[in-house]
Amino acid sequence: MAVDLHLHSSASDGTDPPDVVVAKAAALGLTAIALTDHDTLSGIPAARAAAARHSIDLVPGVELSVDHAGLKIHMLAYFIEPGPGPLQDRLGALRSGRDTRNVIIVQRLNELGYPITMEDVLRHASGDAVGRPHIADALVEAGSIASRSEAFAGLLSDGGRAYVERDRLTATEAIELTLQSGGVNSIAHPLTINTDAPTLRPVLADLRDAGLAGLEAYYSEYSPTIRGQLASIAADLGLVATGGSDYHGAGKPGLEIGTGRGDLVIPATALERLQQRRP
Ligand code: AMP
Ligand code: ZN
Ligand code: FE
Ligand code: FE
Repeated sequence: MAVDLHLHSSASDGTDPPDVVVAKAAALGLTAIALTDHDTLSGIPAARAAAARHSIDLVPGVELSVDHAGLKIHMLAYFIEPGPGPLQDRLGALRSGRDTRNVIIVQRLNELGYPITMEDVLRHASGDAVGRPHIADALVEAGSIASRSEAFAGLLSDGGRAYVERDRLTATEAIELTLQSGGVNSIAHPLTINTDAPTLRPVLADLRDAGLAGLEAYYSEYSPTIRGQLASIAADLGLVATGGSDYHGAGKPGLEIGTGRGDLVIPATALERLQQRRP
């Protein structure tokens, strides 16, 4: 009984439509999945309809980029229903912050000699949360760059030549809004915060005290040893060890739903324990 609690669709920067993500997950034998597009719930209705057809459980979710004590953290919010609500209402503002930033990034790229336009970028986006991966796709199409990851290296990544900040929630705001919306949070790919356990633990303990429920221990890009270490940190701190592939379709080549790079297994108990943390 395996699940996958971190999946992207074309509602944000994945390449498969939401119903296709769900159909693939069901065909792979998963019992439940969470769709966690960046800053949008717009894929949830189609995913939910597909989940009913394919007899798989769908958790409505969203991935947020937040600030905490000078750190950039990705936070997954689960059990967030599309429609109005405390967190839901903030997502629109986060998406318009993306739109403003995308225009500035494209201007920077033009100054650097990459002749792409916002129209080029938008041709690669089919949802309402447009971001750097779509800008990367436009660069690849223009011919000067080979892949999304090559576009990030040096240009689009944090500190890259065309990098531009955008408005974010703070971690504590995100947790409060999520709880008010009836959801719970897990920290996505926690080693992007810091790879050093003595540094990571106090940050996680702070966020737990602010209402954080989980920590993404079972993550595609981590070795089985690291996953085990993160699961035991989660247990020590009273957090649920959650997991997900961070599937993006062709946007992250070689990364499969459920199994990640081949060795990922996310126990269904992760979702059961997360359910028990719902406010
Ligand atoms: P944005 O949403 O515009 O802030 O872009 C961040 C997203 O870009 C991440 O959530 C990833 O999906 C993707 N991303 C970040 N770094 C890379 C990379 N090195 N290669 C490919 N995609 C990346
Ligand atoms: Zn993404
Ligand atoms: Fe992320
Ligand atoms: Fe993600």
